[in-house]
Amino acid sequence: IKKIAVFTSGGDSPGMNAAIRSVVRTCAYLEKECVGIYRGYQGMIEGDFKPMDARSVNNIINKGGTILKSARCEEFRTPEGRKKAHDQLVKEGVDAFVVIGGNGSFTGALKFNAEYGFPVIGIPGTIDNDILGSSYTIGFDTAINTVVEVIDKIRDTASSHNRLFFVEVMGRDVGHIALNAGVGAGAEEILIPEQNLGLERLLESLKRSKASGKSSSIVIVAEGDKIGKNVFQLKEYVEEHLPIYDVRVSVLGHMQRGGSPTCFDRVLASRMGVKAVESLLEGKSNLMVGIRDTKMVLTPLAEAIKAHTEIDEELIRVSDIMTT
Ligand code: ATP
Repeated sequence: IKKIAVFTSGGDSPGMNAAIRSVVRTCAYLEKECVGIYRGYQGMIEGDFKPMDARSVNNIINKGGTILKSARCEEFRTPEGRKKAHDQLVKEGVDAFVVIGGNGSFTGALKFNAEYGFPVIGIPGTIDNDILGSSYTIGFDTAINTVVEVIDKIRDTASSHNRLFFVEVMGRDVGHIALNAGVGAGAEEILIPEQNLGLERLLESLKRSKASGKSSSIVIVAEGDKIGKNVFQLKEYVEEHLPIYDVRVSVLGHMQRGGSPTCFDRVLASRMGVKAVESLLEGKSNLMVGIRDTKMVLTPLAEAIKAHTEIDEELIRVSDIMTT
């Protein structure tokens, strides 16, 4: 392997730039050529490549988003699209690639490898932390810190007016952001896609909270919460069934995907980039780099793409105890 390509694909996450920087600098250190591909698989199909040397990634470790841009690409889902992508990589003289992204991006890489025997390694970049084979994905730590910071601010105004806030956070299929940020910000209740807390229990809990003398309440709701009502419907429901509260709603949205990455995400991304390039040069392929018990580990991409919906029961218990 003489030349390695790197790109970001799917939803962006803070720390992707640190991962790009790491891949580029590891290639430079090991005297391999490196090219960046703009806009993920779309740019691969179009041949949107740029040679990257160690200096091309100066001053990006602290930046959110991705300097290589990200995109979703329908054409890559077809054999014809992947053929075009392969032709472009061959034309450019690329021997292997590192894809930074989520489940969909890894699925595309696996298909590409199955068809062309092209060496591929994945780095998990998503704020959702929903990937098997890594305790943490790049961007998750930054996202939960962003959410905690915002909820601290919401709590200031909530307690000044004795209000109840429903705060919606990202997480369509998994509640890692809601659960971790909820415990970190001291939320009264946390509603996640993995469990149905039930409206009765929510009302009971809010009643108890009020009776115990709390001056404000924050309920964190993951987008995919199983209770079956969105934050606005929850507001109406509580106003109707528990008129003791003045209720407000805050939907945090895309701010959760932005911002300067935390030190944890920068270090994680730097370690993963080194491991990805070294693995390719050791002749490995179809693997994802992950972290487990503070060590870098490799997991087959075919395993990594299986939905990671395991819930942290211990953290739920901690949350329950903390809301006493
Ligand atoms: P996130 O979870 O943050 O959204 P992701 O990597 O899962 O990230 P997707 O939009 O699912 O994001 O996938 C990114 C791209 O990967 C798609 O736009 C497509 O080009 C490619 N891809 C996804 N699934 C497949 C598939 N089954 N076959 C081929 N390519 C795929």
